[in-house]
Amino acid sequence: MSRLVVRGARVVDPSQGIDEVADLVLQDGLVESVGSAVGGAGSADEVLDAKGLVAVPGFIDIHVHLREPGFEYKETIASGSHAAVAGGFTAVAAMANTDPPNDSAAVTEFILRKAAQANRARIYPIGALTRGMKGAELSEMGEMVEAGAVAMSDDGLPVEDINVMRRAMEYATIFDIPVIEHCETPQLHPGGVMNEGYWSTALGLRGIPRASEEISVDRNIVLAELTGARFHVAHLSTSGALRRVQEAKTRGLPVSCEVTPHHLILTDESVSSYNTSAKMKPPLVTESDRAALLQGLADGTVDAIATDHAPHHADEKAEDFDHAPFGIVGLETAVSLCLDRLVRPGVISLSRLVELMSTGPARVLGLPGGTLKVGAPADVTLLDLEKHVRVDPETFVSRGRNTPFAGWELTGSAAATLVNGRIVWSSAL
Ligand SMILES: [Zn+2]
Repeated sequence: MSRLVVRGARVVDPSQGIDEVADLVLQDGLVESVGSAVGGAGSADEVLDAKGLVAVPGFIDIHVHLREPGFEYKETIASGSHAAVAGGFTAVAAMANTDPPNDSAAVTEFILRKAAQANRARIYPIGALTRGMKGAELSEMGEMVEAGAVAMSDDGLPVEDINVMRRAMEYATIFDIPVIEHCETPQLHPGGVMNEGYWSTALGLRGIPRASEEISVDRNIVLAELTGARFHVAHLSTSGALRRVQEAKTRGLPVSCEVTPHHLILTDESVSSYNTSAKMKPPLVTESDRAALLQGLADGTVDAIATDHAPHHADEKAEDFDHAPFGIVGLETAVSLCLDRLVRPGVISLSRLVELMSTGPARVLGLPGGTLKVGAPADVTLLDLEKHVRVDPETFVSRGRNTPFAGWELTGSAAATLVNGRIVWSSAL
């Protein structure tokens, strides 16, 4: 039975409206108290001096590709779990597009067993919506939920057949789990590799129109209304898609969305040097989309910031722009990027960032955590708002090095990560 006192941090917990210097007492994996009157070391087994740091409910990334089973040369559950805690995340949700995909209880159980062996971040498996992620037959959702899957998605691919998606949503309502969709309409842009617009024309690259996402978001909102399913838009990137989510929420539909740090910070101009580290789906879009997403963070339309952490081998990303795979890593850059580019300039408050990276993600997937209420899981992220970092992919714990942020100088970072009342990572270690 262990007891850890996190002493003297500024505790920011939007779930309770707390923003004050306090001691946080963690006992047997749960929050025992948050307050100022703990006094001496008392019966604590361990005291963590956190003066000058900020303690928040552990960050949760609900969109991560851990690549195992099948693509261990890109990432493993152990390396991804380590990268998560090194980036300040206490929990991640793992997408199903592995080989084999997570479309059965056997794979879900494999992921959870590997996660327990890694013993760092909590890992929540997301099951595939369709068998083999082939988009035709529904997967065994019931047995996967029984085994521990928290949501269903074919992310990496959209479910193109509208009738399959309708039935998948109907099925998901039985288990009251969200359906997460990678919203894309591939028929609209064969061979597209970047946003369709000025830069695709200037660079001579095939474009993906913003309508690709908007048509899919529209279709899936209509189906969510028809079926009553909880529908979550993965990596929402365009102003038009955001407007549709906002309208659905106004009408009271159970629709939610996440955005990535890269869509909040970069535009398609980043592709201008044919940099394959700026190639991802959905593609980076325009400044007016970026401005709309920032507005959506501030006004509450956006429920979560998620990284879409997508590690690839350096040799794969060294291909030319048309052939390199889509996706970038995010676990070890997200917190610093958001603190430096969103909180420091005042786009959003620190408390709102905690909502977007902890309380909101927990709510969207119905996960424990997202709060430091008494009795909640003792999952805590400690932040150092003044720490200066330079993004150096060579120092990443992740096997992936594919980031467009290499060399960026940022202020603010994770200082330590506590899971289940235990320090699983610290910048001092
Ligand atoms: Zn996706």
